[in-house]
Amino acid sequence: MSVDFTVPAADGELPPSWIHGTRRGQPAEPLLQVHWYDPHTVILRQSKSVTYEAPFLYLLLGNERALLVDTGATSDPGRFPLRETVDSLIREWTERWLSAEAAARYRLVVAHSHAHGDHVAGDPQLVGRPGTVVVGHSVREVTDFFGFADWPRDPRFLDLGGRVLDVLAIPGHHRAHLAFYDDCTGLLLTGDSVYPGRLYVRDPTQFAASLDRLVALTEGRAVRHVLGCHIEMSNRPGRDYPTGTTYQPDEAPLAMSLEQLAQVQAAAHRFIDQPGVHRFESFHLWVGPCRRAMLAQAGRLVWWRLRTLPILRRWRSMSATGE
Ligand SMILES: [Zn+2]
Repeated sequence: MSVDFTVPAADGELPPSWIHGTRRGQPAEPLLQVHWYDPHTVILRQSKSVTYEAPFLYLLLGNERALLVDTGATSDPGRFPLRETVDSLIREWTERWLSAEAAARYRLVVAHSHAHGDHVAGDPQLVGRPGTVVVGHSVREVTDFFGFADWPRDPRFLDLGGRVLDVLAIPGHHRAHLAFYDDCTGLLLTGDSVYPGRLYVRDPTQFAASLDRLVALTEGRAVRHVLGCHIEMSNRPGRDYPTGTTYQPDEAPLAMSLEQLAQVQAAAHRFIDQPGVHRFESFHLWVGPCRRAMLAQAGRLVWWRLRTLPILRRWRSMSATGE
């Protein structure tokens, strides 16, 4: 018993919407949304009720081991049951697809898109799990584990057992940032380097070179979706939710296209030496520290919270209907 990953997979499915926080008085949403994209791939989202970052995590299952990309923004298992969820997903999958012996030998690799706190906080829940490697956070540790000989230029592979992923170093947002491409599903996982939101560029030269390598990787491949780790844009083109928002009823879709990836690449080159915020329909590029824009975000969040207070919402809808 095993899965033949060489047979082209049927299209996976993304849900019509993700958990996105709740208004006060509404029923609570799950702490962690679990979505089977296809029979061998899980997308998880952490609740905005626990962390406004609400990051996405990815679990890709192969015949010998699984890869978990990122561990979320919260360490406390009571508020973020990551270990329990991953254990039960792996159990469910191995029971369905593998022999008892293969299931008993099954391993887990925990790696990270990058080492910012909202992507690694759940690590302690998985450290010490039997058959599990938790990859470290530094360039050195990432290089050693994946075997990069010429970081960040040479791509690497990770074989999960019949399911081989491309692993690409894409520094620029973070020094040890990685992207993963899964040929079976056509999913390109881009972490915080490309997602529908504020793309914080710490090293513009490296970021532009990383985007070039990402785009080059996609050439000649059937990429279905570019998937990052957050959603900060709303459905209104060019409009983001303020930093810190805990309720996003009209958020943009998670998935981005190759065309949008090319737009990020073009923007990265165009604004390589122009610090500041550069706004596009499906993402904003924040080049450099952008301190004033950060302060403005804090102001926007206060205004946003006031606007959504129940009493002000009622007043706004009454004035809109002329009551
Ligand atoms: Zn992040």
